[in-house]
Amino acid sequence: FGVAFRTPQNNSTGVPHIIEHCVLSGSRKYKTKEPFMNLVQSSLATFLNAMTFSDKTIYPVASRNDKDFRNLMDVYLDAVFYPNLYTDERIFRQEGWRYQLEDADAPLTYSGVVYNEMRGAFSSPFQVAYSETNQRLFPDTHYAYNSGGEPYTIPELSFEEFKDFHSRFYHPSNAKIFLYGDMDIEGQLKYLNDEYLSAFDAREVDSEIAFQEAFSEPREESALYSLAGGEDVTDKDYLVWSVALNKYSDLKANLMLEVLTDALFSTQSAPVRLALQQQDFCSDTNAFTDEKMQNMLAVFLINAKPEAKTKYQAIIEDTLRKLVKEGIDRDHLTASLNRMEYSLREGGGYTTMGILYFIKSLDSWLYGGDPLDQLRYTEALAELRESLSTDSWERFVEEKLIANPHKLLLHLQPQAGLNEAKDQQVLAKLAERKAQMSTAEIDDLVRRTRELAEWQNTEDSAEAKASIPRLGIADLETELPDPPCLTSEEEDDIVLEHPIFTSQIHYARYSFPLQHIAKEDLFYVSLLSLLLGSVDTDHHDYKQLSTAVFLETGGINYNPAIALKEPDEKVLFRMEVTLKTLDAQGGTWPELLTEILRLSRFDDDKRILELMRMQLVGKEHDISQQGDNFARNRLLSRLNLSSWMQEELAGVSYYLRLKQLIADFEENKQSLKENLKRVYNAAFNRGEVILSLTTDEESMPTFRAAALRALSQLPNTEKVPVEWNFEEDPLNEGIQVSSNVQYVVKGFDFEKFKTVYDGRMNVLAA
Ligand SMILES: [Zn+2]
Repeated sequence: FGVAFRTPQNNSTGVPHIIEHCVLSGSRKYKTKEPFMNLVQSSLATFLNAMTFSDKTIYPVASRNDKDFRNLMDVYLDAVFYPNLYTDERIFRQEGWRYQLEDADAPLTYSGVVYNEMRGAFSSPFQVAYSETNQRLFPDTHYAYNSGGEPYTIPELSFEEFKDFHSRFYHPSNAKIFLYGDMDIEGQLKYLNDEYLSAFDAREVDSEIAFQEAFSEPREESALYSLAGGEDVTDKDYLVWSVALNKYSDLKANLMLEVLTDALFSTQSAPVRLALQQQDFCSDTNAFTDEKMQNMLAVFLINAKPEAKTKYQAIIEDTLRKLVKEGIDRDHLTASLNRMEYSLREGGGYTTMGILYFIKSLDSWLYGGDPLDQLRYTEALAELRESLSTDSWERFVEEKLIANPHKLLLHLQPQAGLNEAKDQQVLAKLAERKAQMSTAEIDDLVRRTRELAEWQNTEDSAEAKASIPRLGIADLETELPDPPCLTSEEEDDIVLEHPIFTSQIHYARYSFPLQHIAKEDLFYVSLLSLLLGSVDTDHHDYKQLSTAVFLETGGINYNPAIALKEPDEKVLFRMEVTLKTLDAQGGTWPELLTEILRLSRFDDDKRILELMRMQLVGKEHDISQQGDNFARNRLLSRLNLSSWMQEELAGVSYYLRLKQLIADFEENKQSLKENLKRVYNAAFNRGEVILSLTTDEESMPTFRAAALRALSQLPNTEKVPVEWNFEEDPLNEGIQVSSNVQYVVKGFDFEKFKTVYDGRMNVLAA
């Protein structure tokens, strides 16, 4: 089930986002402060979340249990049509923004859930670059504004404007309602009508999404983003090349743009990306298209040097011109088309297909099109494959990307301490405001601040709690799903087979034991997972390799994995290599896989450095966006071995070591390459490998034979396990990062309380 509303905004106060939070804070029938948090505790939902986009707000839920599904649907409908936000201003103050004054002598500040959330989001230069690009590429439309809320603008939103936004847009005449699944559709429609929709009259809702007229010529603009005070700003510019395209109604054109974005700008062998990388004037590039009424393509240059500014447009467009003239490599396009087909068949990573269909259908439905348009992709893909023999791809690039005047070049410069300075201004403004307040006003604000805190900390009444639907034990299925698993042996290795329906995609996972790897080599294991498939082999350079991999498979991934084995919680350490393919017979992918696992070369200094730099940028982004996760794992790494390993493989420790290695690359590159080679040779051998295969029953025998072909070409070596000692070493520490948000984590080792991990801890945590 899903309900969506068109919610175009006319400012960046984040009103659509704040409404999304507030409708979930109690309604006519469901009276607790946070019905959804209460619901989650006893629901079997497989999806439960609300999301604000740049032009819509959506409320999707999914469950496999009928009664649960009906409960969730009713809670959502009551929330969106009858929220308590009109009568209880505390909801707005809690979720949106408020003046905060703990006592009469304290400084006046702002607070609020969305306010704080967006301060975190805007700490990322990506988010700033994205927001600034939209603002300038679609200046006359709602897309010029940030629907999530620009932190320094959020406090301009008044309670009246907030309520007005809800009453204008949250009406059935402006709603799109979606049902999907094995259910009594007639019954559900009747319920929707009787319980909700029949209470409203049809009405004209003006929520039309404005269309941006094309520019008459390309524009060039600049903006600033903030780094922490004192941080080095050298070579940290962001450059964005973006174009706006036609209306989002032609599925074939949309898919074509996505395939071209992948093939020309994103993959390892993408010609524009390679041309930019060759210049050595930025640490990475990134390209994306956006789902909105008007399609757009944006290409980001990350951490660019000053000289990039005058060159990047010419490099991008000259490369495109050359491609138009000489023709785009059809293997590249085919590989990207394959990748898109995997993504569409797999549901783009959503475990609940219906949710994806809901979101996809809105790509045309929201703008007045047929909801099913975007779901009819099989035919469009077939047509695109056929059109590979024509010059329609080159013409698309010529018309839409090169000759298109609706184009923007954005130069985003870092300024150290920019946000600190803004925060100082905000504090000064607030101090001034406070100075003008009378004693009575101050006392009143202190009282309101305390009241809100008290309200937040007061448990819901028994009556309110009773309004939340709950599942009883009798509503639960007592049988657990039991996916088939057949185990067999193949020399010294184990094969697991899972014959189930998989939309004609075949999945293999090779798990290599690393119990014989020394503790000191953990860092190289992590680096290997970064480099494999992205460096040359004896037979292919990395560009050819990337194209070959995506022609034959839906991608091959390499991940170090840690598990705890009962009963003594012994730490298991493995490298997992996963691949998916549409070709069960194997074509040449088994040989390709063996080539990557046996014949990868670690001698291209420039390439290794380039990949490490890209990862460093990604890590910096992750640390600023998920500081809580990094802090948590950093803390746990002091308490147990498996968390320590996780920290060394992917946490702050890994990040710091990577950063150091990049800084001292010249001195250390020789030993780095030797260590990589040594760990690589030790990692991918037969013996104690677990091969896990998932596909339909019919394809299994052929797929198994193909997967074993790859394994059979690896040597079988003896592995001597090494014992890793670990000593607890609790520590209090602080780490400084460029972010508007701070994260604090405190933790304990529960074994100290003479207990072992079990389900009760999850219950307590909830
Ligand atoms: Zn939010």
